[in-house]
Amino acid sequence: MKVRIDYDLCMGDGNCKKVCPEVFEYDDDKMISLVTVDTVPAQYEEKVRQAAEECAPGAIIVEE
Ligand code: SF4
Repeated sequence: MKVRIDYDLCMGDGNCKKVCPEVFEYDDDKMISLVTVDTVPAQYEEKVRQAAEECAPGAIIVEE
């Protein structure tokens, strides 16, 4: 699984990092979240899907 963030949509609330800190980091200066992995480890895939579902503007793009 791959995951990326559409920065035209991200509103910087940091929820994805709360849901899955193993994959998402939060940049306090830029007030956006970052993806810290190239490929999502299998054990975190479900949390990444949950983060994408909870992302209000739909900025998290999951590629299965
Ligand atoms: S949950 Fe969505 S809107 Fe919020 S920081 Fe993460 S990518 Fe951005």
